[in-house]
Amino acid sequence: MTPFELLEPRSLREAAALLDSEESSVRPIAGGTALMLMMKMGVFRPARLVSLRAIEKRYSDIGTGPEGELRIGAMATLSALERSPVVKSQAPVITRVLRTLSNVRVRNVATAGGHLAHADPHMDLPPVLIALGARVVTVDPTGGRTIPLEKLYTGYLETTLGRNELIAEVVVPRQVPQRAAYLKCTTRSADDWPALGMAVVLDTDGSVVRDARVVISAATDTPMRLAAAEDALRGVSVDDSVLRRAAEAGASEAGVIGDQHGSVAYKRELLRVYLARAVRAALSEK
Ligand SMILES: Cc1cc2nc3c(=O)[nH]c(=O)nc-3n(C[C@H](O)[C@H](O)[C@H](O)COP(=O)(O)OP(=O)(O)OC[C@H]3O[C@@H](n4cnc5c(N)ncnc54)[C@H](O)[C@@H]3O)c2cc1C
Repeated sequence: MTPFELLEPRSLREAAALLDSEESSVRPIAGGTALMLMMKMGVFRPARLVSLRAIEKRYSDIGTGPEGELRIGAMATLSALERSPVVKSQAPVITRVLRTLSNVRVRNVATAGGHLAHADPHMDLPPVLIALGARVVTVDPTGGRTIPLEKLYTGYLETTLGRNELIAEVVVPRQVPQRAAYLKCTTRSADDWPALGMAVVLDTDGSVVRDARVVISAATDTPMRLAAAEDALRGVSVDDSVLRRAAEAGASEAGVIGDQHGSVAYKRELLRVYLARAVRAALSEK
């Protein structure tokens, strides 16, 4: 590893000011679980790291806002999210997903902000949070903004965040009573990176789907909503023929990519199978 400067500011704004809008070798570091791996592999050689560990404690909080929305500070660890009673009561699908996300050692240090900013399409929370309609609130030296999570990702490890822009908070809107599921398919060992992830959130009236949000990950280079599949589910009572139509629509619209976890044709077939399974799993939620 080549030597680098490590700074530990006391506030998030100070951290943003220590980043460099032009220089990609200056980066924030939160839990370090992704960044340190990249450094050990030599694919990232920092000139300066700005640690977020000493910033204001409120950025580790998890709570609810005035409209009942879930507010998750960027420095909240994945373990804190997993154990949070507020998260469990507002969006239990998040709690379920965290149980199979990596292992407890990683979850104890990895943070919500680092997880979302890393932009590896194989990661588990982005598709789920996109399906729940989440947004991120950011801070930069000129202020900050709110970005719908579905607009954050632009490519493999690429986001719309500026080089001196930090995620401060993740906001998940108050959920109308809804049914949600996330399924992932690993093709080698159970704890391997998935070949495909599928998140489904349904708003139902009896057996009729009023609204549907369907998000694919891992088989595409960014997590993405499957709008045609959502259309096929909306306004109907789900049966096998509806699921077949939705799965075909999803398979036609997704820009599936092949990798070491499976070919394009294989992942397209996984998409068809897992979309139907995820809808059924969501419908079986109380
Ligand atoms: C052994 C192992 C197994 C794993 N298995 C899984 C798995 O099964 N499922 C899964 O989803 N993930 C898995 N992961 C990935 C893991 O979820 C991420 O490494 C972790 O969430 C990243 O969070 P962090 O806080 O450590 O980020 P860091 O490593 O600190 O940072 C990651 C990136 O985000 C940037 N960053 C950090 N914080 C902010 C911020 N607030 N604002 C803007 N940019 C920021 C950094 O500059 C860096 O580019 C695994 C990781 C490991 C090491």
